[in-house]
Amino acid sequence: MKIIMLGAPGAGKGTQAKKIAAKYGIPHISTGDIFRANIKNGTELGKKAKTYMDQGMLVPDDLTVDLVTDRIHKDDCKNGYVLDGFPRTIPQAEALDKALSAMNEKLDHAIEVNVPDENIVKRMSGRRACLNCGATYHVVHAPTKVENICDMCGGELILRDDDKPETVLKRLGIYHNQTKPLIDYYKEEGILTTIDGTAALEDVFKAIIAILGE
Ligand code: AMP
Repeated sequence: MKIIMLGAPGAGKGTQAKKIAAKYGIPHISTGDIFRANIKNGTELGKKAKTYMDQGMLVPDDLTVDLVTDRIHKDDCKNGYVLDGFPRTIPQAEALDKALSAMNEKLDHAIEVNVPDENIVKRMSGRRACLNCGATYHVVHAPTKVENICDMCGGELILRDDDKPETVLKRLGIYHNQTKPLIDYYKEEGILTTIDGTAALEDVFKAIIAILGE
């Protein structure tokens, strides 16, 4: 099962993508996580990506597309995957379709987690990420057991630069200009389903299971 998650930054698509990956036993591929791991490890890609990410801008397509096409060729992707944060532009979607058709494959589902802009800024300012392992939490909706300490690895939690309100507004603008056109793109491909991302986390997941099957 090959799935892509669409939605504004902070709509909760990452959280749902992780739950999908766990339930269906497929890898969760987050381009944001891959870039953050590269930044942490000080790679050339990380250094390049950081200059864009810190400003809330998209990393250029040429740096992003190869990363994903390499990843989906790995053995663990044979039974599918859930892509989270990719594609984010029409050229990325076209490059993905091209890579898939070269493998004689296609996407099964594009799931849009829909949350109005006004909810997004509120949500993002409560978001916390582990400096060490990248796990994400929310001070109200998904708190850690011990304040500011990661449940998974004991690392310290931070408000990511790209989750700060001024950056969030910029990222929302970019989402509307560059990523929103993907909704029509996948509607035309006949694989788009939109779900209400303002519902409780478990209800959003139930709606997703209803699309993907038990
Ligand atoms: P995310 O964790 O998905 O919110 O991504 C964090 C940041 O990583 C984004 O604001 C972008 O700067 C960058 N990024 C992640 N995925 C992509 C992508 N598909 N294309 C371009 N930039 C991306």
